[in-house]
Amino acid sequence: MSNFSRRFKSLFLSELRTGLGVTLRHFFKRKVTQRYPEEKTPLSPRFRGLHALRRYPNGEERCIACKLCEVVCPALAITIESEQRADGSRRTTRYDIDLTKCIFCGYCEESCPVDSIVETHIFEYHGEQRGDLLMTKEKLLAIGDKYEAEIALARQEDANYR
Ligand code: SF4
Ligand code: SF4
Repeated sequence: MSNFSRRFKSLFLSELRTGLGVTLRHFFKRKVTQRYPEEKTPLSPRFRGLHALRRYPNGEERCIACKLCEVVCPALAITIESEQRADGSRRTTRYDIDLTKCIFCGYCEESCPVDSIVETHIFEYHGEQRGDLLMTKEKLLAIGDKYEAEIALARQEDANYR
């Protein structure tokens, strides 16, 4: 750019006016940014978020400690220990999911024969201390209890979709 052209542009503030023109053009356009977390973006119905363990309506745990989810997990994120109850049924004594290993593939959910371990639509969670993202059986059951209505509806919609 020649010296004259630079001085001309500087004198008539042409770059400033070009910039203001761009601002003005976009000012009246439809906004595409979202004010998260006040505004949420739509989630796919098949989104896989935080895990939960479900119970039957009578309060009994669904999980029968078959360990299929543990075997199928490609990230080795699930650890299960179990025992036989007095009535002969088998239940877990330990059910841990290490979310720092989990890749949210959904295999655990797919493999479960009794619809016990599921992945919810919850994605707003975090850990601040070591161990916060180790989901114990108690934590997973608590999530299942809290969101059972939403989980049941999502499972029904998923079944209809298939
Ligand atoms: S979602 Fe995949 S990686 Fe995560 S616990 Fe389940 S099977 Fe393992
Ligand atoms: S969550 Fe399902 S697949 Fe995993 S051990 Fe329990 S019953 Fe078996």
